[in-house]
Amino acid sequence: MSKIKVIVAGPRGKMGSEALRMIEKEDNLELVACLDRKHDGVKVADIDGLPAFDALIYSDVETCFQTVEADVLIDLTTPEVGYLHTKLAIEHGIRPVVGTTGFSNEQLQELTNLAEEKGIGTIIAPNFAIGAVLMMQFSKWAAKYFPDVEIIERHHDQKLDAPSGTAVKTAQLIQEVREQKTQGHPDEKETLPGARGADFDGMRIHSVRLPGLVAHQEVVFGLPGQNLTIKHDSFHRESFMSGVKLAVEEVVKLDILVYGLENIME
Ligand code: NAP
Repeated sequence: MSKIKVIVAGPRGKMGSEALRMIEKEDNLELVACLDRKHDGVKVADIDGLPAFDALIYSDVETCFQTVEADVLIDLTTPEVGYLHTKLAIEHGIRPVVGTTGFSNEQLQELTNLAEEKGIGTIIAPNFAIGAVLMMQFSKWAAKYFPDVEIIERHHDQKLDAPSGTAVKTAQLIQEVREQKTQGHPDEKETLPGARGADFDGMRIHSVRLPGLVAHQEVVFGLPGQNLTIKHDSFHRESFMSGVKLAVEEVVKLDILVYGLENIME
């Protein structure tokens, strides 16, 4: 069986470099190029700390997609550039696997439409950790019985978007089954703006940013006399890589956009 040819965008980043190490270990994946705004024309192997790949680095997206024969783009960058990469990849017939978080609903809708129009499989997952996907599914189940819920997500202090994509996705899944209600006291007042966190359909999301953290989330449900807490911790970015690998293997079989790893897990 021929190898899946992969481009990685954001190879020097914490997630991107972990993706390179994952590709290095997998016999069915081949790194054919990287997209990086620095080091144009340099081999990946020549960048300190990155695995010894001969694949070249491109800083211009169009040039990369036109020059390199690739099946899949793994994007692990920032919301603005990640959106552009994803759009251009679909237009060039390269299937995107997107871990970058922070896309707006409008951007997701636009990419969904474009992927369908072009018949190009695309997977966007706010969390590639299998345990986090289960945490979201368990939370959806619990929300049927516990309509009062607060989400507390904790991430490292270099994270650009808040709340996290995982927190938003969890809230969306809960919204599908939860009877709508505005939580807390009807007359509650914030004496310090933001004290009660972000409001998502009446439930609250709190974002903690501290050095030393990776990606953690607690979903706390309350009923009179009892609380239920569903918690997941990613202690290392390796935790996301089995999900990224699964998405790369699945995206080549798709002709539409799939949002969320749970939709490709059996
Ligand atoms: P990071 O370490 O800051 O890496 C981001 C990378 O993007 C860097 O290599 C950075 O290069 C590059 N970049 C930034 N702006 C760019 C631009 N304008 N053009 C080209 N490249 C650019 O961040 P990270 O922790 O790896 O996270 C990357 C993304 O993955 C984030 O959106 C994060 O939320 C997301 N994430 C997703 C999951 C998941 O499971 N889906 C898990 C963890 C993180 P420079 O050094 O030049 O800035």
